Amino acid sequence: MKKFRGIYLKNAREIGLMREANRIVSRILDELGAAVRPGVETMLFEDLARRICRRFDVAPAFLGYNGFPFALCCSVNEEVVHGFPSRERVLVEGDIVSFDMGVVYKGFFGDSARTFGVGRVSETAQRLMDVTRDALMKGIDQARAGNDLYDISRAVQQTAEEAGFGVVRRFVGHGIGARLHEKPEVPNFVPRGAKAVLLKAGMTLAIEPMITEGGHQVEVLEDQWTAVTKDRKLSAHFEHTVALTADGPEILSLSD
Ligand code: MG
Ligand code: MG
Repeated sequence: MKKFRGIYLKNAREIGLMREANRIVSRILDELGAAVRPGVETMLFEDLARRICRRFDVAPAFLGYNGFPFALCCSVNEEVVHGFPSRERVLVEGDIVSFDMGVVYKGFFGDSARTFGVGRVSETAQRLMDVTRDALMKGIDQARAGNDLYDISRAVQQTAEEAGFGVVRRFVGHGIGARLHEKPEVPNFVPRGAKAVLLKAGMTLAIEPMITEGGHQVEVLEDQWTAVTKDRKLSAHFEHTVALTADGPEILSLSD
């Protein structure tokens, strides 16, 4: 596989396999989203995600990754990312729930995340989800050959901060391909002193803003995985896997 400054460039065949992997991920997120309602335990989504993986004959990407114990990351309200599905946690009206799902198909990865409201949610919760999705789309629009990587970061950060929300720094997006996490890191903010990284056609990036209602500080719970906002205010997460083509960004994880 060709590399540019340590970043793998994918050919059309490889992007085709990633398109397939991400199509399956988006299908899983569609079905999980349709099952969100008050009164369900969050383990239901884990079960559903695994069942759909079997149906498509793909392996869940996160199960066992660095020891993560589930196929699905399921993060409720103040949980930012890497939450555990649970038989005890029952969704209630007004919650927001983030699903982050990955699969591997013929050696290539798909990775995407969405946040859903449970029944009726507060105006703030709705705005947080809308702004996070908007920040993702604005970031994707900058994912163009010839641009700087941090054009993506800047677009995400500006969109979130102009809306009065916080941008999580501890977790970032990433290159993706034959590995779940490849170079480069794709932060949702412009790091101080960051040197330009030229974007090239053939790069494939998972862009994934994690945006908070309050401060951007997070901490990890005793389970060693679940990241929550320090102030316990809400957090939303949207992610797409994107291929940089000669004609601009192609979102690989769009729903049909
Ligand atoms: Mg993800
Ligand atoms: Mg990711």
